[in-house]
Amino acid sequence: MKSDIQIAQEAQILPISEIAKKIGLKAENLEPFGYDKAKINWSTIKKTCENKHLGKLILVTSISPTPAGEGKSTITIGLGDAISNQLHKKAMITLREPSMGPVFGLKGGATGGGKAQVIPMEDINLHFTGDMHALTSAIDTLAALIDNYIYQDNKLDIDPNRILFKRGIDVNDRSLRQITIGQGSKFNGIEHKAGFTITVANELMAILCLANDINDLKRRIGNILVAFTKNNKPVYVKDLGYKGAIAAVLSNALKPNLVQTIEHTPALIHGGPFANIAHGANSVMATNLALHLSDYTLTEAGFGSDLGGQKFMDFVSNHLDKGPDASVVVATVRALKYQAEGTTKHLDEENLTALRNGFKNLERHMNNMRSYNVPVIVLINRFASDTKAELNLLKTLVEEQGIKAEIVNYHGEGSVGGIKAAQAVVALANSGKADLKATYSANDDIKTKVKKVAKKIYHADKVEYTEKAEKQIQELEKMGKDKLPVIIAKTQYSFTDNKKLLGAPTGFTLHVKGVNLKNGAGFIVITTGHVLDMPGLPKHPAALDIDVDNDGKISGLF
Ligand code: ADP
Repeated sequence: MKSDIQIAQEAQILPISEIAKKIGLKAENLEPFGYDKAKINWSTIKKTCENKHLGKLILVTSISPTPAGEGKSTITIGLGDAISNQLHKKAMITLREPSMGPVFGLKGGATGGGKAQVIPMEDINLHFTGDMHALTSAIDTLAALIDNYIYQDNKLDIDPNRILFKRGIDVNDRSLRQITIGQGSKFNGIEHKAGFTITVANELMAILCLANDINDLKRRIGNILVAFTKNNKPVYVKDLGYKGAIAAVLSNALKPNLVQTIEHTPALIHGGPFANIAHGANSVMATNLALHLSDYTLTEAGFGSDLGGQKFMDFVSNHLDKGPDASVVVATVRALKYQAEGTTKHLDEENLTALRNGFKNLERHMNNMRSYNVPVIVLINRFASDTKAELNLLKTLVEEQGIKAEIVNYHGEGSVGGIKAAQAVVALANSGKADLKATYSANDDIKTKVKKVAKKIYHADKVEYTEKAEKQIQELEKMGKDKLPVIIAKTQYSFTDNKKLLGAPTGFTLHVKGVNLKNGAGFIVITTGHVLDMPGLPKHPAALDIDVDNDGKISGLF
């Protein structure tokens, strides 16, 4: 079988101006990055977002991720291709930009798979149009400016031990999680403990994905809480005077990037916050643009319905010009068998009992999505090893719950691998039945918001807070910042905060360890269990298999 990168490299790639034509854009609307990539320019973004047209929004989410693979991006892309090329409707795909760090670690690329991919996949997975580098530079410039401020006269009397803003790098480097800076002589700055997160975990990434325009970007940057003074007063970027400079570093990166799928469907790939530690969706600007430019926008929320799905419904939707008209839950036979057995060893063998037992994971995810009052469909992403009996059983189990299921093979066949599914998704999006009902109300306090998500979506019995988390909540109440939406940082592998508890556990306690204000992004991050904002590399990193030949052809990116 050919690898994803081989299939992507063999695909015919059209000039980006040809792709733009499909959505009514001309050369003058684009800022090309070579032959096959372009940013959309500002005047086009502004004009497009003012037009009255708004297409249907289709959200793709999934069951809990497993090492067996679920294929959310593959399905989002395949579905977009099928709606575009088989149903001949105007469709666009909006996806997150892959973070480069994980590409060299465990995960490999993040541009779909098989015949359902966005291309040029090597560029998108590596440097692309430079957005990630701009973010890294903006993050580290801001961190350096804060350290320079305390080194110079520190007029506000910032406590060097209470600087909250961390440095960033788009590399999985566990040794940078905790560091000491300013060591040595006085000329090297004020010595204090510091740390790095991976670029995509920094608040600036969330801000890039939520800002509507440069003014909004600047306003949000100004609102980042970066430190406390020795008198316990909050210090925001706007107090230090750096918001204009940081917005300038990021201004080009704020424009969405246009590329194509293997089947030439237009795709906007822009912004990439993780869905466990941040809100997990591509930029609001890209999704809004696609809604105004096409009739069907397919977008993906990271990880399962409990992470990206919940965050999309309760948070991201409020920033978009419209909420979702339908949601798709992606499931695979293999991943559900893994949910029951907890091992990848026998996934190639038919096992109807394991599938039946693992189904409860999907059942909870599809009922979660149904609870938002947006019509749901399950797409079963077929793998070569799945048997007919398994596929039929899974379809029956889903449909017994009153939700439609379709089996698709976009990975193996491209858009023809799921025409009926595309018709069903389009019918659902046009049904007019979506009337988004959030899990919590904006006025709920922090603990009520967390309790509602924990009970309704995770099915926890109760929530416990550490002493530190309780203190942080009191601090936010004092600052009058306790009514913002909550972004719960939780392992993606389980509905609980313990990644080993598979299936659909009940009767558990959710342990909250930290409550941190992301004032520029406009949310509060609730940290549970052990969630890392700087991943490490595994014993056999994907980097061992990646190479480039003397013609510049890259291999091994999966
Ligand atoms: P997710 O978005 O859920 O992380 P991706 O769509 O990125 O998943 O797919 C992860 C990997 O699984 C990719 O390498 C892709 O080629 C592979 N994959 C997805 N669907 C299938 C399938 N039906 N058969 C074989 N491999 C698949």
